[in-house]
Amino acid sequence: MSSTESTGGGQGGSGGGLDVMDRELEKLLEDELNEPGDHERFSHYVPKDKIIESAVTGKPVRALCGKKWVPTRDPEKFPICPDCKRIYEQLKN
Ligand SMILES: [Zn+2]
Repeated sequence: MSSTESTGGGQGGSGGGLDVMDRELEKLLEDELNEPGDHERFSHYVPKDKIIESAVTGKPVRALCGKKWVPTRDPEKFPICPDCKRIYEQLKN
């Protein structure tokens, strides 16, 4: 008669840590995917020299709100990005 010890069957410990991280990542990725459409609906504040640089290189610039975005030729068509506007107002004061 060998009394078998009950190893294994450890409950607890294997919390959903990884699972949560996965979900966070998924959410981040989703946000990333949603972004492009979003920027294009707003005109962001970007330093003028950066806009000129972007026009030459075709590379996206970083707007005041932190979004990377390729400036459009006619920003008047789009509403001002609320985040950029807020930051701009703060800079002015
Ligand atoms: Zn912005």
